[in-house]
Amino acid sequence: MSKEVLACDVDEVIFPLLDHFLEDFNATNGTDITTGHFKTYDFDGPLGLSVSETVEKIYDFLRADHSHIELLEGVEDATGRLSSNYELEIVTARHPDFEVSTWRYLQEKLPNRFRGIKLIGYAAIMEKPVTKAAVCLELGAVALIDDSVGHLNECVDVGVEGVLFGDYAWNQSEKLQPEITRCFNWPSVAEHFNV
Ligand SMILES: [Mg+2]
Repeated sequence: MSKEVLACDVDEVIFPLLDHFLEDFNATNGTDITTGHFKTYDFDGPLGLSVSETVEKIYDFLRADHSHIELLEGVEDATGRLSSNYELEIVTARHPDFEVSTWRYLQEKLPNRFRGIKLIGYAAIMEKPVTKAAVCLELGAVALIDDSVGHLNECVDVGVEGVLFGDYAWNQSEKLQPEITRCFNWPSVAEHFNV
């Protein structure tokens, strides 16, 4: 029997983007912005920049070499165990231009975990925006592991289960749909999928 497919986000689930992005941004701009300022995952508000300026800053960050940046805790072990029972597919909102560098980083840090990668880009600036939910359907994924409630709500609407990863300022929610389970860390994601 073929394995079920699990879709998995990159930023803030595997890779701690915002922490490292802010470290660089604060050092360059003399600011003191923290992750706690991000009540949503839209960067323009807390950074005080326009959307296009913000996108440029994020792209500059993504163009840099990240091989020295460590994965979030527990991801190595949990994805190792998950990948023996499931096909893992990366589904990220990074721009498709970053496919090669993102895949290279993942292969270097987490070899043989993921079958493939889909990059949808940031909807507000894409000519033809695609949702993570649509990609999950295309992949036949049974669940998406993501730190964004918005992406997960769209998944639930099309019958894909959601795992809300982490305890972040931007992903607090009074009430989650019953098809969404919050997992604060990777060991609890592994436990959720019984691996
Ligand atoms: Mg994310």
